[in-house]
Amino acid sequence: MSSLESTGIVAGRPLCGARFNGPAAGVPSPEPLKGRLWQTNVLQDGSHETQRVFQVAASEGKEEVRRRHIRLHMEGALTARDKVGVQDFVLLDAHTSESAFLDNLRKRFRENLIYTYIGTLLVSVNPYQELGIYTLSQMELYQGVNFFELPPHVYAIADNAYRMMCSELTNHLILISGESGAGKTEASKKILQYFAMTCPMTDSLEIARDRLLLSNPVLEAFGNAKTLRNDNSSRFGKYMDIQFDFKGIPIGGHIIGYLIEKSRVVYQNHGERNFHIFYQLLEGGEEQLLAYLGLERDPQLYRYLAQAHGANESSMDDRNDWKTVSNAFAVIDFTEDDLENLFGIIASILHLGNVCFRENHQGCATIPVINEIKWIAKLLGVQPSALLEALTHRKIEAQTEEVICPLTLENSVYARDAMAKAVYGRTFTWLVNKINSSLVNKEFTKKTVIGLLDIYGFEVFDKNGFEQFCINYCNEKLQQLLIERTLKAEQAEYEMEGIEWEPIQYFNNKIICDLVEERHKGIISILDEECIRPGPASDLSFLEKLEEKVGKHAHFQTWDNLWRVWDSKGFSGQGSQSLLLMGENVTTICLESWGLKGQRLMVGTQFKTSLSSLLEILISKEPSYIRCIKPNERKEPSKFDDFLIRHQIKYLGLMEHLRVRRAGFAYRRKYEHFLQRYKSLCPDTWPHWRGPPAEGVERLIKYIGYKPEEYKLGRFIKGFIHRDKPLCPDNEEFVV
Ligand code: ADP
Ligand code: MG
Repeated sequence: MSSLESTGIVAGRPLCGARFNGPAAGVPSPEPLKGRLWQTNVLQDGSHETQRVFQVAASEGKEEVRRRHIRLHMEGALTARDKVGVQDFVLLDAHTSESAFLDNLRKRFRENLIYTYIGTLLVSVNPYQELGIYTLSQMELYQGVNFFELPPHVYAIADNAYRMMCSELTNHLILISGESGAGKTEASKKILQYFAMTCPMTDSLEIARDRLLLSNPVLEAFGNAKTLRNDNSSRFGKYMDIQFDFKGIPIGGHIIGYLIEKSRVVYQNHGERNFHIFYQLLEGGEEQLLAYLGLERDPQLYRYLAQAHGANESSMDDRNDWKTVSNAFAVIDFTEDDLENLFGIIASILHLGNVCFRENHQGCATIPVINEIKWIAKLLGVQPSALLEALTHRKIEAQTEEVICPLTLENSVYARDAMAKAVYGRTFTWLVNKINSSLVNKEFTKKTVIGLLDIYGFEVFDKNGFEQFCINYCNEKLQQLLIERTLKAEQAEYEMEGIEWEPIQYFNNKIICDLVEERHKGIISILDEECIRPGPASDLSFLEKLEEKVGKHAHFQTWDNLWRVWDSKGFSGQGSQSLLLMGENVTTICLESWGLKGQRLMVGTQFKTSLSSLLEILISKEPSYIRCIKPNERKEPSKFDDFLIRHQIKYLGLMEHLRVRRAGFAYRRKYEHFLQRYKSLCPDTWPHWRGPPAEGVERLIKYIGYKPEEYKLGRFIKGFIHRDKPLCPDNEEFVV
């Protein structure tokens, strides 16, 4: 791989054709609101001079890189952009063209430059190979360096959030999105590692750091699986708070898991696997443990694992992963009892999958061999008779009494699978809670956090079920958040700086969110109503209700089209626990075995509620964004599939983001930083400018020949510096 990276400087000339009529979107500038030089980035002639690109060895020391950066700038180094593209899409000449965007991404990808900015948003393309860009020296390089001074990197995003948190004592959020296999989880792990390695640390808090790091392999074992798209696909959404004390030491954390894909427990598509933990346990578990659980090593002996044809001779190293997970369990405080119970449940699911039914003369289901039932009853601590009844009977609540009636064979199979899914879902929730109790740190009352959101992107498959509905709804909400946050933040900044602007037009997807979630009128409400209605669940009646209630909605057409590819079979069935029909009885039993009462909250509403509390968490924090792109469907390095990537650029809204970002002033710096950086370009400011920085900047940019419409000077309301105040002593010198 090339260890060379381009480092662009946006200052230069000429910058013309400026539009002052729109706010630039993107995350709030990494610098606090202080007086700055606002400079347009819109080029008049597409001149390459506006960006001077330098090649610097990534392994060089930080100071060395910065010096070289300045020196090359002064020497007017030749541009290398033809080869490596621009490191910020804002600098593209053909700024509104998707092809130019794609070309730039491709150029960089070919040079193994997987990161590119759109302003302060980071676009990342999965390299599918180890690039050696996550070394300790790389971490050190990015530590404490201003955002635009080094090549784009996930460390720059992490460091920027961290520094802002430390200096302003505010909470931050890094929102990572993209489709399955695009590199979201890897990015979030890199960020966590960055904090673990670079933040200050005390001996007593090392354990907190280790637990934070080791929560990952445990959660991945239970929440990730091999899919066609990704060998280590996260089958749940994850939000994680990393908590810091006032000195910036990581002291603890908190995790929230969303929508674990329970259906995978009982069924996997061709070439996919069940959750990693099942294979890890069978492959790596100690003889004694397996004997206690009544398990054999061969996954093919278990119905829930045996369907995964072709997925087993895989790239996974289950035995090794088992060791990692076992060690992690020890660090995050799981007792032997905890583990015995936990694996008892995991084993009971495998036994449950092997329960077979036969039809008796009355057409009812019976269980001819009860070996599995015995194991399950032992491992879950329930009576075998209760289990037998739950799997073959259902409870019907008549007006005054409960009637137990037998199930058909088909319904019993459904009940068995419903139970396996429910048990796994509950176990996952328990696991997250347990990890949280080991991450909690009550000693510190005052803490700031950096949140990491690693959540599935939009999913539209050939067949789309209730899970896709929830995932896409979640993405609509996150998109709404991004729109509101970026535009609002920009607007506030322009106003504070006293810079004219006109709002830019954008599609506000609130109308789509309303269609899904509005009370009494939205799709989720309609689904709920259908679920609690007496009588059998009918997906058809649900669709009819939709047609009747939202059929005339301006955006229903879109939904209606989507609807056709949605697997409506089982949609309302999944919509509510009480509608797990024959599963109801079973679900209750399994809830009781957890010491819980059965809940009847609709799953759609549950998801809506958990989503709105997630949004509350997100809204209260300063966001940064990482958009991950998957380069090809074959998980191969160096393959850049134009069609696939174009599609992602579209639905990740990257062009829209770029347009909004470019409509305003893309390059903003505090006066003194700008001056420090470029003072050598003007004899008046070199080697020292002793007056107010703002005046020095004005002198400098007039000297290099900027036209008045090419820049704006902010009025720095809140900043510490004031135009009329003398320059603060600035000792930082660059040796040129
Ligand atoms: P997602 O979470 O978006 O579904 P992952 O983060 O699990 O995707 O990435 C899928 C796979 O791609 C990883 O298991 C890894 O092999 C590879 N990968 C992702 N990001 C990187 C990276 N930055 N460097 C090297 N390989 C990566
Ligand atoms: Mg993932």
